[in-house]
Amino acid sequence: MREKTIAVNVGSAVIGGGANVLVQSMTTTSPKDIEGSVKQIAELASAGCELVRITVPTLADAEKLKEISEKVRAAGIKIPLSADIHFQPRAAFEALKWVEKVRVNPGNFGNEAFPQFVKEAKKLGRAIRIGVNHGSLSSRILEKYGNTPLGMVESAMEFLTMCEAENFDQIIFSLKASRPREMVEANRLMAERLREGGHKSYPFHLGVTEAGEGEDGRIKSAVGIGSLLIDGIGDTIRVSLTENPVNEIPVAYALLQAAGLRKTKADFISCPGCGRTLFDLQSTTIEVKKRFSHLKHLSIAVMGCIVNGPGEMAGADFGYVGAAEGKVTLYAGEEPVRKNIPQADALDALENLIKERGKWNG
Ligand code: SF4
Repeated sequence: MREKTIAVNVGSAVIGGGANVLVQSMTTTSPKDIEGSVKQIAELASAGCELVRITVPTLADAEKLKEISEKVRAAGIKIPLSADIHFQPRAAFEALKWVEKVRVNPGNFGNEAFPQFVKEAKKLGRAIRIGVNHGSLSSRILEKYGNTPLGMVESAMEFLTMCEAENFDQIIFSLKASRPREMVEANRLMAERLREGGHKSYPFHLGVTEAGEGEDGRIKSAVGIGSLLIDGIGDTIRVSLTENPVNEIPVAYALLQAAGLRKTKADFISCPGCGRTLFDLQSTTIEVKKRFSHLKHLSIAVMGCIVNGPGEMAGADFGYVGAAEGKVTLYAGEEPVRKNIPQADALDALENLIKERGKWNG
């Protein structure tokens, strides 16, 4: 079951408080390249991204956020913007003026500046992400706890204590590592610590840093983010890929769908095929997906044979099952309703069946 977290307002979006798990990504441009940054934010937004983070290394970069934000809003893009700060408190204070959320890393932000930063965020109605990275813990934390999930949690807790001293709760936590196992452990430990310490249940941002590109990056992210989502932890996610950030968005949605948290397309169930398979399973499944993906309220199974297929469809709403050589039987739930139809007619027949049953429009 999903953790009942408090709602954190981030501009036009809400993170936590039972809202949909929010999909976010990050620009790869320099804020000094205002046009390039605005263009990338627009591309991410039209790909379905729901919050965009911008790296802000210096005060000069932070100053550019004003124009970037104005241009983004002028283009009619409403998704919240976040600034990513490392090392420079001055950049963080400036960023607070222009974007809805600012991420600071306790490993390099400096404890001295943080209480004042929290006061300022509170005054301006901004959210703060306390974003700990396995690779950049402070030397003080490293000495005491080592480069461990516990060290990551202690680092986050120090900043939480300062937020609580200011009665500020618009906080999101992230504890990231490039190895999914460490990332998962750190987040579980943090959730436990909040519960046991009687703190508020703050939302978590999940991500595996430096996950990589291609299949590696996707699998690492799925293992790290997916494990925690199944635990009920996580209110916003970022799938970091060493690719165009636009590619991160479909992966994020597929991951949320697999975890049962968002429905962006129909659920498809298909068997791997075996000696009993009666048609080209892969190409048929691709065809079925193409034709019925938009029916996101449905689950549709494609099974190679009638021997085991119907039993293994896992409660699908409709099934396309191999009946004999070149013949298909269509199921509505567990009931075989069109028997032994020629495969060439089966897709049309499935569409008609879905329509007849009144399931075409949700
Ligand atoms: S459903 Fe039939 S074809 Fe598919 S894997 Fe199972 S036994 Fe093989």
